[in-house]
Formats: sequence, structure tokens, C-alpha cells
Amino acid sequence: MPVLIERQTEPHDVVCGGFLAAGAIAMLARIGINVFALGAHPIGCTRIIAGRRRAEAELPFAAAGLSRNRLDACLLQEAIDKGAAVERGVAIRRVDPAARCLDLADGGRIGGEALFLATGKHDLRGDPRAAPLDADPALGLRVRLRPSPALAAALAGTIELHLFRRGYAGLLLQEDGGVNLCLSVAQSRLKAAGGQPDRLIALLAHEAPLLAERFGAAAAGRWSSIARIPYGWRATQAAPGLFRLGDQAAVIASLAGDGIAIALASALRAAHGFLHDGPEAAAAFQADLARRTHRPIALANLLRHWGETPWIAGPLAGLLGRMPGLLRQAAAMTRVGVG
Ligand SMILES: Cc1cc2nc3c(=O)[nH]c(=O)nc-3n(C[C@H](O)[C@H](O)[C@H](O)COP(=O)(O)OP(=O)(O)OC[C@H]3O[C@@H](n4cnc5c(N)ncnc54)[C@H](O)[C@@H]3O)c2cc1C
Repeated sequence: MPVLIERQTEPHDVVCGGFLAAGAIAMLARIGINVFALGAHPIGCTRIIAGRRRAEAELPFAAAGLSRNRLDACLLQEAIDKGAAVERGVAIRRVDPAARCLDLADGGRIGGEALFLATGKHDLRGDPRAAPLDADPALGLRVRLRPSPALAAALAGTIELHLFRRGYAGLLLQEDGGVNLCLSVAQSRLKAAGGQPDRLIALLAHEAPLLAERFGAAAAGRWSSIARIPYGWRATQAAPGLFRLGDQAAVIASLAGDGIAIALASALRAAHGFLHDGPEAAAAFQADLARRTHRPIALANLLRHWGETPWIAGPLAGLLGRMPGLLRQAAAMTRVGVG
């Protein structure tokens, strides 16, 4: 029987923009989750703002805004309904790929025919990755906003991206009428704001005036954060019987909004490989995923670099404003499409 180990005892909101592109929506439907039945906010348009310049375009696919809290709770319930044993509140301390075993924080040890590692962006003990990190690495920040009616109307059907030096922020409406605000920003910028996200947004007012205005027009909840994001990481090899999924396999720049799709697609492909060829399918699965994610990840990294460089981002937003077809094309080309 499959055993799923999750260290959190309760559903929680991870640092994520909550943007679901068509691929993610379709893969969720395949495993029995209809995001619109969960109340996901339909999104058909993207808006990019750099300083006082802006571009808007229809997305080349249907998308949605859904809180990770809601999505992750549904995924866990699906796993239970399909027969997995789910152990919550149990943390993995160390992975032993050679023995195909996990050491647990409570002192226990559990092994299996195969391990599917989906623990997110950071390394587990016993299993370090040579993940690339900038000298001034990106960190992620997330907060839920209660929007004013004017802000809710401005964000209806739209994913909004604000670009600034060494970072960007995404805003969208979710199933509960709240706004998810998520930032990816260089560590040094938060440090310069005394480590306080509210102050960071206030300091950004001259670079991203509309972002500061949006934030000011809403009541904010508690911030959550994640440090040292290894954008661009791809696992190209795997130990026998060890399948790396999601951010353990490939970390796409978050402005692409495709990390959830990669997580779902990698899980579906790994399960397929395991069921057909057994644990030894891991190496071929990992190499294939690395090949499929190479181009979208490289392009998303390039777009991230441009978006975080004001002398490129401003004129680029102006150009995209005049040629929305380019924006649609960039959105389409950063999809991994590995479902
Ligand atoms: C700022 C930012 C914004 C983003 N916005 C979007 C977006 O809008 N759309 C999108 O598609 N992607 C987005 N992403 C990317 C997306 O969040 C990730 O790619 C996705 O969450 C990866 O899923 P995962 O299952 O690999 O990891 P996670 O979602 O991080 O899940 C890992 C799980 O493992 C559990 N866990 C971790 N360590 C242990 C342990 N030791 N023992 C037991 N359990 C453990 C955690 O509690 C968690 O439940 C964003 C990322 C960032 C940083």
C-alpha cells in the first residue's frame, strides 16, 4: 500500500501565487478534482506592470486562482480516497536512497520498493542536490489580502504581475474572494527593509507605485516566507528506486506560474513509469522530465532576469502593451506540458 508522509498536521498555505494554468487544471480533472467546483476564480487575462508602463493580453489558455490551502487539502483527500495511508504531522529527517528508506523525526524508519520525493525546494539530509543559488538568492513571500470592492473589480478574471528591481509580485483573486499576493524578491531587498515585508512594499512605492496602492487598499493577513529558492534547478539523474517530483525535480521561475503543473505532471509520469516498469524506471523518468523541462525553465529564467532589470522591464512592458500577441506567446512557451 502507498504511504504518504506529510509533516504538517493541518492544511496550510504554502508560499505560492495560486495560479493554475490550463495544464494543471486538466491534470487535476484527470485525477478527479474539478477546480471550478471548488470555487476557483476563472482567469483569462494577464496584466504586466513595470513602473508606469503596463501591458495586457488575453491568456492563450483558461486559467484559475485557487488557494494552496484548498488545493493541497483536496489532493490529500484524493490520496486517502484512492487507498493511500496518509501520515500527517510526521517529518522526514533523512533519506537513504541506497536502502530506499526514510528516517523519521519521531525516530522511526520506513522503507519501500520505491521512494517518491516531493518535499519541495529544499534538500533533505542524506540527499544533497547541487542546486544553483545566486549570491543574493531569491526568497518568496505570501500574504492573503481582503480587497476593497474596487481592487476586487480591478483583479476580476486577471493575473496581475508587478515588476521591480530584483523581484516581482503577483496578485490574483481566489475561491474565497480574498486576494493572494505573492512576491519573489532578492534576499538583500528584504534585508534593506529590516526584514519586514510591509516595509518592503512601502519602499517599493517609487518603483512599483500601483503595487503599493493595491496593498494599501486591502487589509493584510500574516505573511509567510520561504528562503533560498533554487530557480533553474533540474534533477537529471536518479538513484535506483528514487523518483523526484515537483520542486525536487525542477524549479521553474515562479513568474511562469507553472510549478504546480510540473509537480502534477511529474507525479503522474512517475506513477505511470513505476506501475509499468517498476522502481528501476526512476532513472529514465528523471532524465525524460529533465529534458522536457529544459526549454520552459530556461525561457522562464530569461524572462525573470528581464523582468527584474528595470531598464529592460520598462521598455519591454511598453512593447508588450503594443504587441499583446508576444505576451500570449511568452505565456504559452513557458508551459512545460508534460502531462
Ligand atoms: C513566490 C512563488 C510563487 C509561486 N507561484 C506559483 C503559481 O502561481 N503557480 C504555480 O503553478 N506555481 C507557483 N510557484 C511554484 C509552486 O509553488 C511550486 O513549484 C510547487 O508548490 C511545487 O510543489 P511540490 O509538491 O514540489 O512542493 P511543495 O508545494 O513545497 O510541497 C512540499 C510538501 O512536502 C512537505 N514536506 C516538506 N518537507 C518535509 C519533510 N521533511 N517531511 C515531511 N513532509 C515534508 C511540505 O509540508 C509540503 O506539504 C510559486 C513559487 C514561489 C516561490
